[in-house]
Amino acid sequence: MSTPLTLYRPDPAVGRIAQALHRAATPEFSGWLEHTAAAGGCARPIRLTGTIAAVEATTGRITGRLRTDELPDRALYKACGNRRESQCPDCAWVYAGDAYQVVRCGLTGGKGVPDSVGRHPVVFATFTAPSFGAVHHRHVARHTCAARQRCDCRPAPCHARSAAGTCQHGQPAACFARHDTDDPQLGQPLCLDCYDHEQHAVWNYFSGELWRRTKQAIERHLAALCRQRGIPFVQVVTGSGKVRRLPPVRVSHRQGRRDAAKGGRALPRPAAPRRCRP
Ligand SMILES: [Zn+2]
Ligand SMILES: [Zn+2]
Ligand SMILES: [Zn+2]
Ligand SMILES: [Zn+2]
Repeated sequence: MSTPLTLYRPDPAVGRIAQALHRAATPEFSGWLEHTAAAGGCARPIRLTGTIAAVEATTGRITGRLRTDELPDRALYKACGNRRESQCPDCAWVYAGDAYQVVRCGLTGGKGVPDSVGRHPVVFATFTAPSFGAVHHRHVARHTCAARQRCDCRPAPCHARSAAGTCQHGQPAACFARHDTDDPQLGQPLCLDCYDHEQHAVWNYFSGELWRRTKQAIERHLAALCRQRGIPFVQVVTGSGKVRRLPPVRVSHRQGRRDAAKGGRALPRPAAPRRCRP
């Protein structure tokens, strides 16, 4: 049996939609909306309570007083400002937008940064594992889908060859299929015997260590460059809540894997090397 929304104040546990419906149905909704706008849509706003006094700076005379008891919800809302998505997706989203603007200004100028930075050399490095043989793959030259995880774009033919023929093991050396994202053939070698399984195993064995050393060398080089040019380090709050000082450029394999989930290329996973059986 359903309960009329106007007769109760929904508990946060009932979810955002029920809370939003309840709010929107109250007569003081527009005033409340204006009052909470300062929190910028924060999911876990800080609620400030007490009295705000307006004091004349020169004389110390109190010219006005406001008690939060008189305000909607009897509190002032302030955004938590947390950068971690797990803590507050809304503030993290604002932070991501700010970070985007910082990077954009660093690349093209604007917001006080001279346009001349646009002429500075920029490197977007992508690290990919070598090929160990032809595998069935799905390549979309230009995505028009809304989300890469559910990509329904028309891919190019897998391995179109004008002179197809067969490999030395008698397997077709071409594949004209346009593979779907859930095609079990994706990632499978065109010919199991042509594929260099030994090299692949060696690569997997050492890729964790290779990536660790590559990342370490890049970060040491960037840190030295920052010190040399007087670029200050930035404070970063890690997932566990610790504050670390880092150069303003990061090499993050997690971002690469997130990009890969969106249809980009993954960096070699920095896992601990595993022993292969001979
Ligand atoms: Zn927040
Ligand atoms: Zn194929
Ligand atoms: Zn797509
Ligand atoms: Zn073969």
